[in-house]
Amino acid sequence: MSSSISTPDRTRSQALQQRAERFFPGGVNSPVRAFRAVGGAPPFIASAQGAYLTDADGNRYIDYFGSWGPMILGHAFPPVVEAIQQAASRSASFGASTAAEADLAERVVACYPAIEKLRFVSSGTEATMSAIRLARAATNRKIIVKFEGCYHGHADGLLVKAGSGVATFGIPGSAGVPEEIAHLTLALPFNDLSAVEAAFAAHPGQIAAIILEPVVGNAGCIAPEPGYLAGLRALTTREGALLIADEVMCGFRIALGGALQLYGVDADLVTLGKIVGGGLPVGVFGGKRVLMDMLAPLGPVYQAGTLSGNPLAMAAGFATIGYLQAHAAEVYPRLEATSKAVTEGVARAAAKAGVPVTLNRVGAMWTWFFTPGPVTNYGQAAQSDTGAFGRFHHAMLDQGIWLPPSQFEAAFLSTAHGPAEVEATLAAAGEAFKAVRA
Ligand SMILES: *Cc1c(COP(=O)(O)O)cnc(C)c1O
Repeated sequence: MSSSISTPDRTRSQALQQRAERFFPGGVNSPVRAFRAVGGAPPFIASAQGAYLTDADGNRYIDYFGSWGPMILGHAFPPVVEAIQQAASRSASFGASTAAEADLAERVVACYPAIEKLRFVSSGTEATMSAIRLARAATNRKIIVKFEGCYHGHADGLLVKAGSGVATFGIPGSAGVPEEIAHLTLALPFNDLSAVEAAFAAHPGQIAAIILEPVVGNAGCIAPEPGYLAGLRALTTREGALLIADEVMCGFRIALGGALQLYGVDADLVTLGKIVGGGLPVGVFGGKRVLMDMLAPLGPVYQAGTLSGNPLAMAAGFATIGYLQAHAAEVYPRLEATSKAVTEGVARAAAKAGVPVTLNRVGAMWTWFFTPGPVTNYGQAAQSDTGAFGRFHHAMLDQGIWLPPSQFEAAFLSTAHGPAEVEATLAAAGEAFKAVRA
């Protein structure tokens, strides 16, 4: 790769990575952080403020992954920091109920009318895993339908054609998942209602639920085609199966009430994560009261968590969702405008450089696919030139722009991103596309 872009000094990050590799497989506690999909060594982060990350060597980056989604208000947002500090001073955990749990629940329910009752857990994985147990119990059926490229956390039954991390590594599902469990999951192409019709016809009375990312983020960003979500709602209702909207990524991001609000659909169960914890570990599963009341201690479906509803996490979520609610009229138009400017500007830079790129975007969630497109499902996303994406990623990183380190991850921005960040990003992209072609 010949270009005028030089790599900044990352000596300390490299040393930290070597040390981390002694302790953690691949040096990481979550695989995509290892940068295997784009090559090279990942910078270590020392701190972050607003739209900027600072690495261990003092290099600064404009952040376009936002901790994989949660940091919609930017890093170290003062009201959130203060809320966490105040909660911490009253002790980090009690293992008994606190008012903070219902405080945050009240805000979640106000944003998501589909959620009548809910449970807090500590990750998105726990949320989807629990929602599926509940769906099977409620329907007395075993089969779960998911869509190729959708990721719903790493529970056994959901690691089938599961997008981003899994797609990136080319692992068909995962070793260690018994085929007896994988066989209870049907993976269908996204945006194809006839495939869902066919599945119901082939397995009459056996499908417990359809789970989906209503806006896919984990195969890169893919929007539902007009009528698709309403079609799934109608089919599940007709067939007596449940519809589970996994809004762990798109919830509170593409609209205050996520995809259900944006596309005007209802779901039986909803899962949330990422933004709802304001950067602390929180997941939610919730939905219709009759379903949720099947959970212990009221009903026969067991589910629990030592740190569920943790007071620090509740405080961070309460401050974050509260800010989004109070300022929704400014926040979402601002996210939309900044996202539009940066994504369309980069797409124009690609066109100018003669690099085929397809832009998919829903609000402050998007992907530049390195393919002429269109990209409406995982099969089409997989046509992308991942080598070109990797060169682009590094050329951007070297110029201080941190994109998600995989073609199959959505990018995000925050309310802290403004015209200065957009301008710097577009300038860097112009140079980076030259490096892609070189
Ligand atoms: C991130 C994500 C999950 C998993 O959440 P974790 O907190 O990483 O366990 C589940 N579903 C979707 C749609 C996600 O984006």
